[in-house]
Amino acid sequence: MNKNQIITLEITAISSDGYGIGRFDNTVVFVPFTALGDVCEVLIVKVKKNYCFGKVSRFIKKSDDRICADCDSFSKCGGCAFRHINYTAEKQIKTQRVEDCIKRIGELDATVHPVTSNDITECYRNKSQYPVGQDDFGIISGFYALHSHRIVSSEKCNLTPIEFDEIRQFILQFAKQNHIKPYDEQKHKGLLRHIYIRQAKVTGEIMVCVVINGDNLPQTQKLIDGLCNLNSNIKTIAVNKNTQKTNVILGDKTDVIFGDGYIVDELCGLKFRIGVHSFYQVNHDMAQMLYEKAFELALPQGKTVLDLYCGAGTIGLTMASSAKKIIGVEIVAPAVEDAKFNAKLNNITNAQFICGTAADAARQLYADGISAEIVIVDPPRKGLDADLIDTISNKFAPEKIVYISCDPATFARDLKVFQEFGYKTTDVYPFDLFPRTPHVESVCLMSKV
Ligand code: SAH
Repeated sequence: MNKNQIITLEITAISSDGYGIGRFDNTVVFVPFTALGDVCEVLIVKVKKNYCFGKVSRFIKKSDDRICADCDSFSKCGGCAFRHINYTAEKQIKTQRVEDCIKRIGELDATVHPVTSNDITECYRNKSQYPVGQDDFGIISGFYALHSHRIVSSEKCNLTPIEFDEIRQFILQFAKQNHIKPYDEQKHKGLLRHIYIRQAKVTGEIMVCVVINGDNLPQTQKLIDGLCNLNSNIKTIAVNKNTQKTNVILGDKTDVIFGDGYIVDELCGLKFRIGVHSFYQVNHDMAQMLYEKAFELALPQGKTVLDLYCGAGTIGLTMASSAKKIIGVEIVAPAVEDAKFNAKLNNITNAQFICGTAADAARQLYADGISAEIVIVDPPRKGLDADLIDTISNKFAPEKIVYISCDPATFARDLKVFQEFGYKTTDVYPFDLFPRTPHVESVCLMSKV
């Protein structure tokens, strides 16, 4: 296959990025923003050793799944992958993706259930981090283009509450009026890097955090007055300092300039204080359903539960009233502080939280003679380290392991290792916490055979 060649292609699968996939002369061709069943003329734009990328030049037949994309930034910004197909089709793709990983990467014969969703596909995100930059017309905020750090300016996002767009527009105006320069990633110059907004779904409380490349944000009182005037739900405002040349959004230092630095939400009947640096699931209602499933799989009644990668303590604390004891482990110190606070906030006295890596803490807990009948793991996308899987399976050797994952590929890889150590999964449950994006969450129970 050659660059600029035009081929006729039928889209027969969807990649993990949400790209359409077809085969031509035994070569895999990825075509962004196509749908299963599309037949199109495709212009080959990039040729790699074992695959190519193409662009639709003409449709011969359009997929029945297609709908009109209702966002101007769709296909430009790296957020949504599926605004051009209906949600039923998207759910099938997500179930299929988890199934493919379980069968091909995990080589497991577990049943993959259809993805669970509440079918709410708009305004579900409770958190957004907008990069700030500049175009020919002035200061902008938006989203990075896919696999890139080019900012796609976007004034409205359908995945977040409308208040988020109002708040960031206000901050851009504030920057303009006060001659605050947007950050330029190439030159590592300029002050305003990101606008980070989070809202507690149940209480409505909003946190606004401005990330700066420097030590001082000028005119903070004006910013505070303006924001509080704009939206009375804003309970806290913070300035985070990130002067590193890095892709990581937040720096280590945060100055709270209004309120106490936290918002409080309610989840599974408990209250949770969430700070700037704590992980908190972005889809509140689906997270609740996911945690209920984790509870149903774990059956923690009277057991000691080790909650690894615990964030602000959410999963463990929702099990605390049934369990004998909860031990949470989390690497981010402020999140551990939130977890401890959240135990007190809910009058929970049988939960303990440790700051450290899951692998080190698990090894140490075992060395200290601690045992647990149930281990819960909820790692970031890269999944679990081999030595942690070893510590869990061969040292703790719990009755049950509940694995929650946001990456089906590393999830399947890890389940395979657990199976080699005698832990079997019979059922995998995908949950759609991120409608319209290519991401999908999964949970499963592994039992000792
Ligand atoms: N269970 C929580 C958080 C899940 S996100 C919830 O449902 O809200 C994954 C968490 O793992 C994050 O809070 C992240 O800070 C933490 N983390 C990342 N690497 C870690 C490691 N090596 N050891 C322990 N925690 C880690």
